[in-house]
Amino acid sequence: MNSRPTPRVLAATTTALLALAGVTACSSDDVAGADPQRVDVVAAFYPLQFVAERVGGDAVRVTNLAKPGAEPHDLELNPGQVGQVSEAELIVYLKGFQPAVDEAVEQNGGDRAFDVATVQPLLDAAAGGHDHDHEGEPGHSEEPANAEEKEHADEGGGKDPHVWLDPTRLATIGDKLAERLGTADPDRAADYASRAKALRTELEQLDGEYTAGLKTCQRREIVVSHTAFGYLTGRYQLEQIGISGLTPENEPSPQRLAEVAEEAREHRATTIFFETLVSPKVAETIAREVGAKTAVLDPIEGLSAENSSGDYFSVMRSNLESLRTALSCS
Ligand SMILES: [Zn+2]
Ligand SMILES: [Zn+2]
Repeated sequence: MNSRPTPRVLAATTTALLALAGVTACSSDDVAGADPQRVDVVAAFYPLQFVAERVGGDAVRVTNLAKPGAEPHDLELNPGQVGQVSEAELIVYLKGFQPAVDEAVEQNGGDRAFDVATVQPLLDAAAGGHDHDHEGEPGHSEEPANAEEKEHADEGGGKDPHVWLDPTRLATIGDKLAERLGTADPDRAADYASRAKALRTELEQLDGEYTAGLKTCQRREIVVSHTAFGYLTGRYQLEQIGISGLTPENEPSPQRLAEVAEEAREHRATTIFFETLVSPKVAETIAREVGAKTAVLDPIEGLSAENSSGDYFSVMRSNLESLRTALSCS
């Protein structure tokens, strides 16, 4: 029997080898594990990237799964990103926030996954809601805005994932992340701990600015596009009225819009807040109807494409100024 390969087989083999070479070149360059000097960290969305970079410093290489300017709740992962999750040395994510990331971690994460929701118990979705003398009336954010929203809330066990909007909770996440990095990379454990401590100092300073800045205000209710602000309103004694619930939605029902407009009038809201990563159209409609202005209140789920030079601190401080103006704080 003639063992020489036919030209057709040769061609196929060459193609396969080229494909293999392509994959190899790509992975040595692009995929986690490439830099032996640094810990490869995958972060599921911006605030987790921010903490990982601050605590890890130049000892880590952080990849964010969510693209700048994209709303991260409904993130889809491409095969390359699933590969990044399976090869990362540490995956920092928040279980219940992004179903696609939860699934990838479940399949490939193993003991490399760090769920920041385990650092401190998450608040119930209702806990940050708007609840006062007209309890039981429609239009309050502790009630899911519609059936789809209720479904989302149920998926996460009715927990509110937006924990990073309380700076003191983010500081605790930083401390625990430092411990986790120290376990993965014991030689530099002390560096991680000291960077987490510096981050905590800055976050506590920010917390003090919020407490002082929102102490004396003429109003305490904020109308927001989705109920992302439960941790912030809980910490600084504000109330949120969400146009949509825990997950941003494009088209709230006409009934929900009417309810929110009524709430806005009742609480004499001067400002209807919208987000950078979601269309402002709905907020504008309500604002026009009740004679209010619109302004940005950023839930910092991702940095907007225009704000690539900003970070968690700059957006939080700009949010504080917007709140002080809207609520007429002295
Ligand atoms: Zn959100
Ligand atoms: Zn109310």
